[in-house]
Amino acid sequence: MKISPLIFKSVRFVRGDFSLDINVRFPEGKLTVILGPSGCGKTTLLDLAAGFLRPSGGSILEGEQDVTLWPPNKRKVGVVFQDHALFPHLNVSDNVAYGPKVRGAGKVRAGNIATGYLEMTHMSKFASRMPYSLSGGERQRVALARSLAIEPDILLLDEPFSSLDAALRRTLRNEVRQIQKHTSITAILVTHDQDEALALADELAVMRHGRIIQMGKPGELWKNPADLFTALFLGRTTRLSVRRISPLNTNGLMVETAAGTIRIDNTEKLPVLPSTLVIRPEDLILTKSGHLSGQVTEVEYAGGHWRIRLNAGDGTDMIDCDIHDTMPPSVGDLLSLNVRSGSARILPGAVSDYLEAR
Ligand code: ADP
Ligand code: MG
Repeated sequence: MKISPLIFKSVRFVRGDFSLDINVRFPEGKLTVILGPSGCGKTTLLDLAAGFLRPSGGSILEGEQDVTLWPPNKRKVGVVFQDHALFPHLNVSDNVAYGPKVRGAGKVRAGNIATGYLEMTHMSKFASRMPYSLSGGERQRVALARSLAIEPDILLLDEPFSSLDAALRRTLRNEVRQIQKHTSITAILVTHDQDEALALADELAVMRHGRIIQMGKPGELWKNPADLFTALFLGRTTRLSVRRISPLNTNGLMVETAAGTIRIDNTEKLPVLPSTLVIRPEDLILTKSGHLSGQVTEVEYAGGHWRIRLNAGDGTDMIDCDIHDTMPPSVGDLLSLNVRSGSARILPGAVSDYLEAR
């Protein structure tokens, strides 16, 4: 196994109305998560990386090596699919030993490799079981062991946990995280699940319509989304359409919304309308007479705190906040909130342009 980056240089792929255009460097030894809505091209990107599809333009490099025209079996890439594609007629151990055997390892050596990776994925006990007798989570563990057994340079995981229940998904994603750290393999995991993406990623790439919109550390994308789609798609956020912007003499802006007016400092350029004000829940503080106010429309207990949604104007104006009091507010209550200084962002566009992200 070599620790090398995977590089897409102006990679283009067209299929009917769908086009993909990707320029990205997946860093060596890190887990990059690609997050995007269904149909945005996540699987297509992985298929290109694995060599199942050939791009119509651009090049794909593993480290220095241009692999654009290489077939899948020549590439050092392991793939785990959503639907645990194990060989049904081979037992667990033979499933894992298959790759090494095909690549020239003798029977004994291939068996030893399988034993090692089944240990790593906590599946040693199941070595002689047949795939049909395994649960979904166990099959995904075997699929992971099988993809690692060829000692790939790059590990690709396409929504590997999406058919599992919430608790198992959590366990398995932590195990994948540990194995990735332990082996330092360059890994790319694709998901449409925001929580999973934020929890797992060293680097997070948000994808829409065949393009990567923003890539960076999860915390950076959470706090400083590049656009309104990313802000909405990453998770809970207040979204208030901006009614008016007035520049102040000092380098700040007064931003008027249906929920109230707040001051924003350090904006580089004057935003144009339509624009939307976004604020993460942890940056809103319940108070007596604050910057923003709205009427409670949803109260949801989240274990230890309450997730509250307020309505502040027309249908798309909403405030999402958390309340840590012992008594929650009731639907219909009027609440007032302060905005933590420096936390509000103005992003071009209207929420109604991004209905798929809500
Ligand atoms: P994602 O994995 O993000 O859900 P995909 O990469 O599977 O998205 O699909 C990207 C686009 O290509 C979608 O518009 C999808 O409908 C289309 N597509 C995917 N597979 C095929 C196929 N085999 N034939 C035709 N169109 C396809
Ligand atoms: Mg897919």
